[in-house]
Amino acid sequence: MKARSKAQVIIGNWKMNKTIAEAKAFVAGLEPVAAKCSAVVGLAVPFTALSAVAAEAHRSKILVGAQNVSEADNGALTGEISSRMIKDAGAAFALVGHSERRRDFHEQDVQVNLKVKRLLAVGLRPVLCIGETLAQRESGAAHEVLAKQLHAGLNGVTAEQVAGMIIAYEPVWAIGTSKAATPADVQEAHAFIRSEIVAGWGKEAADGVVLQYGGSVAPHNAAGLLSQPDVDGLLVGGASLSLESFIEIVEKN
Ligand code: PEP
Repeated sequence: MKARSKAQVIIGNWKMNKTIAEAKAFVAGLEPVAAKCSAVVGLAVPFTALSAVAAEAHRSKILVGAQNVSEADNGALTGEISSRMIKDAGAAFALVGHSERRRDFHEQDVQVNLKVKRLLAVGLRPVLCIGETLAQRESGAAHEVLAKQLHAGLNGVTAEQVAGMIIAYEPVWAIGTSKAATPADVQEAHAFIRSEIVAGWGKEAADGVVLQYGGSVAPHNAAGLLSQPDVDGLLVGGASLSLESFIEIVEKN
């Protein structure tokens, strides 16, 4: 296999789990593994743990990020958290457009795009999540859905900015279902996404962008997924809640 031109990026998405104490203990256990690993390791943590985890991970290689961000900069938006606030708390990145937010909180592409731009404006790295539902896949619309979410999410984003971003391909039918997409299916979708980026933003952007796969990644399937040429990393939900299983995944890199 040809040597990879960039490090793979493996991020755990804790969703609405872990107290501050649990989060700090996890990071302490992960640090020595992240230090030896050739992949970049990251954690998308709850807002409440962001500051503490960022302080704990300060001298380590672990990237710390948020799971969401407001589309606005400030104002009378009770309960919202802005890109400047998460940066202030120590975030280096944030997930945007996760399918749970699209499905359960009715986030639309236009909001997702605003969130991407808010993050870029303060120098944070967006992890833009895109993916088709089972019905869309079965009706043959997967590429159309991916292209729509990609182009809408990156509307107005420059090629240089795209080159520094992470795009997570997360088929909705694979999230939290124990039914991960096969390595061949993931490779096919990633090659399509990369070709769309070449068409929209050019080859340098497509070479620089990190394409992650997410959806029921577990210790038993991580190596096969990571070995695909267009898989530049993984976004791991359920299996990132246990330190042991997340370490097993990270060590497959
Ligand atoms: C996710 O929510 O981003 C995810 C990939 O979840 P899981 O690994 O549990 O399918």
